[in-house]
Amino acid sequence: MRVFEKNSNIFNLLSEAVSEGILVVNSERFIVATNARTDQMFGYGKGDLKGNPLHVLIPEGNRKSHEKHVVDFYAKGDKRRMAQGRNLFGIKRNGDRFPVEIGLNPFSLYGETYVMALIIDVTNIKEKERQINELNEGLEKKIKVRTVELRDTVAMLKKEIKLRTAAEAKIKNALQKERDLNELKTQFLSLVSHEFKTPLSGILTSATLVGKYKDSDQQDKRDKHLKTIIGEVRHLNGILTDFLSIERLEKGKEVYKFTDFSLSKVINEVIYNANMLLKSGQHINYPQNVDGISIRQDQKIVTLVLTNLLSNAVKYSPEDTTIDLRVVLGEDKIVFHVADEGIGIPEKDQKHIFERYFRAENTLLNQGTGIGLNIIKGHLENLDGSIRFKSRENSGSTFTVELPVENITEH
Ligand code: ADP
Repeated sequence: MRVFEKNSNIFNLLSEAVSEGILVVNSERFIVATNARTDQMFGYGKGDLKGNPLHVLIPEGNRKSHEKHVVDFYAKGDKRRMAQGRNLFGIKRNGDRFPVEIGLNPFSLYGETYVMALIIDVTNIKEKERQINELNEGLEKKIKVRTVELRDTVAMLKKEIKLRTAAEAKIKNALQKERDLNELKTQFLSLVSHEFKTPLSGILTSATLVGKYKDSDQQDKRDKHLKTIIGEVRHLNGILTDFLSIERLEKGKEVYKFTDFSLSKVINEVIYNANMLLKSGQHINYPQNVDGISIRQDQKIVTLVLTNLLSNAVKYSPEDTTIDLRVVLGEDKIVFHVADEGIGIPEKDQKHIFERYFRAENTLLNQGTGIGLNIIKGHLENLDGSIRFKSRENSGSTFTVELPVENITEH
């Protein structure tokens, strides 16, 4: 202790110059020197701490661990900071606790071992730390709340987007339908202008001529023109029926009626009508195996399909050719083949042949609407049937139709 008194001037000079508290203890852990900052920090008068045991500055709860710490420290004898990883406290003369950070430096002087402690009062730093922690916690809480709010908003927006997309799709759909309808109307009008023109002028001519044959012996001439008129009106009627058929198919309004009917009766009727259209030297081969057979299907559709295929075969074949109608009866299906030796379908047009209004390049000079095949394909699909064809330009086409039949009987 005297060492420090002896050298107190030097000690004072050095220790008062630093801002940390300085405290020197001897090996018995008695305080042998302090600087003014230490005295003031712990609430003692100048020099009052000298001679006191170190533990007067340590809170009671910490004394035991502190003792152990100091013993360890003397044993190791190296410099270190005491507060690392722990919260250290000092105790003031009035009993108040305050947080400190302490660095320990052992040294020897005149054969004695001392430890110099550098003490910093970290009350302010701790307070700042606490405030920062509090702020951080507040911030974290706010972020959490915000995240939840954002999540809700995103979910709401997603829902809104979904609703809007659905509404948009609906509007687009409606618009597309409107466009399709308009297109259909436009096509119908242009078709009507083209397709109706020739028959109507034929009707007009025939009607005018009929009026001119007034004599009673001119009945055969009148009949000829009346036949033309009837044929043309039938033709126009057929086009209009096709259009109505498209509309019904499109709207899913078509109702099918299944009945048991005689196959040969239908085929006779269809061929009879087709025969009226034949060009000179054309001939339709009647199928061999249909007599006495009745099937259960929609008779109107079977008639429509065969009528269409036969009239196409006649229309798109030249004079002096044969058209073959063959029927193959399966267990639960019926297959029709309509083969002609006509102009055929150009390869590049074949993939479009069932599209509505499509007409192959080589048939543009013939009358036609491009509706028939589209309609019968629609009906056949509705009835779980199918239609396909094989064709070569300038050598002929074969259309094949398959239809399921519930009941095939012989009578
Ligand atoms: P349309 O005969 O009134 O034009 P379809 O729908 O019946 O309408 O036929 C569509 C197109 O398919 C025809 O325009 C024609 O180009 C082609 N086609 C159909 N059947 C035949 C056939 N037997 N031979 C050659 N081409 C055909």
